[in-house]
Amino acid sequence: MMIKTIFKSLISFILLIAVVGMASPINKASAASSFIYPLNGTITTNFGPDVLNNEERYHYGIDIDGNIGDAVKSSASGTVVRSDYSSSYGNVIIVRHSINNQTYETLYAHLNSRNVSNGSTVNQGQVIGAVGNTGYSFGSHLHFELHKGTWNINKSNAVDPLEYLGKDLVPATDNYAVYVRTANKEGELLNKFSTIEEATKEMNKYNYTSIINLSTGLEIATNNAPKDVKVYFGSDTEGTAYAEFSTKLSARNFLDMYQNMVAVDTATWDQFDWSVANSKKYGAFNGSDSTRKDFGVRSAAIDYLETNYTNSVVMDKTTKPYPTEIWKSNNTFPKKYLVTDGNNSQSYSIYSAAVYARDLVPGSEIIIQ
Ligand SMILES: [Zn+2]
Repeated sequence: MMIKTIFKSLISFILLIAVVGMASPINKASAASSFIYPLNGTITTNFGPDVLNNEERYHYGIDIDGNIGDAVKSSASGTVVRSDYSSSYGNVIIVRHSINNQTYETLYAHLNSRNVSNGSTVNQGQVIGAVGNTGYSFGSHLHFELHKGTWNINKSNAVDPLEYLGKDLVPATDNYAVYVRTANKEGELLNKFSTIEEATKEMNKYNYTSIINLSTGLEIATNNAPKDVKVYFGSDTEGTAYAEFSTKLSARNFLDMYQNMVAVDTATWDQFDWSVANSKKYGAFNGSDSTRKDFGVRSAAIDYLETNYTNSVVMDKTTKPYPTEIWKSNNTFPKKYLVTDGNNSQSYSIYSAAVYARDLVPGSEIIIQ
C-alpha cells in the first residue's frame, strides 16, 4: 500500500493542485433526467409519419392523453421564449434549455391555460400550464415537441422526445474523490470516481482512507480514518463544527468553497488557515493555566474551550481599547478583574484575560473587585 502511495505521489500532487485550485462552485454531477415527462399519461400518437383526418402528415412531437385542466410541467429548467395562441398550436409555450452546452427547446401545445409568459424562468417540473383542446386539436391532450436547437417553422430540429425523456444527457463526472491520510493528517488524493460504488471499492483497499463528495465538499465515508479535523463556520452554532474530516487536505478543499470559516486540527487545536483571510480575532483564554489560542471564528474558540477546560472565556481581541469578553464557559464566575488606564476600563472573569488586556493599553492596571 505505501509503495503504491509513494509511487502515486507525484501524480497525486499534480491532481491535488488541480483540486485545491478548483473554483467554487464545483460543478454538480447530474443525477437526474435531463428531460422529464411533462404529463403522465398514455402516449396516443408517436413522433414520425402519421395520418390525421385521412391526411398523411409528419408528427413532430408526441401526444400525451390528458384531461382538461391537468397540470403540464416544464420538462427541463429553462427560459420561456414563447407563450401565446396560434390557430394550429392553440395555447402554446416554448421553453429554451441549455444542457451540457447544447440548446434545446420544448414545446407544449393545445393548452387550456398558460401560467408563464415570454421571458419567465422555469424550473424542471414547474407547472407552466394546463392540458386543453385549443387550436387544431380534436380532444384534450398535450402535444409535446423537443427540438435539438431552436424551434423553426419547418421543425427541422425536431427530435423524437422518447429518445430523450428520462435520460441523463450530462456525462458522468468524477464526483467522488478518495483520499488517504498521511502523516500529520495531510491527505493525498488517490483517485476520483464517478460513482460512489467505485470510490468505495478504492477506499476499502487501504486503511485510513476517505471519500469526499466534490459537489458538496463533505466527507461521506471513511475506512478507519478518524474525523479529527473540524471545519467551523463563522455564523455556525456556537461551539459546533459544521463538518468533520479525516484529512487536512479535504478540509482545505472544503474551505475553498466557502467564506468566513476555519479548519482546526483537534489534536493540537491549531487552526490552519487556507484561502480565507482569518484575522484570528477571537482569543480563547483558559483561566487556570493562562494558555491562549486564537481562532478566526468564535465557534471554533468555544469548542476548543468547552472540550478542554471549565473555567474559560472567549474574547474579541479587536475591540478597542480593550478586548471584550464575549463568551464564558459558565455563568457562575463573575467578572472580577477590572482593567483600567484611568479613562477606559473593562472587566474580565479570569486573570489571564485581564493580563492580556492590561498589556495592550499602556498605563493600565488590574484592580481586583
Ligand atoms: Zn400532436
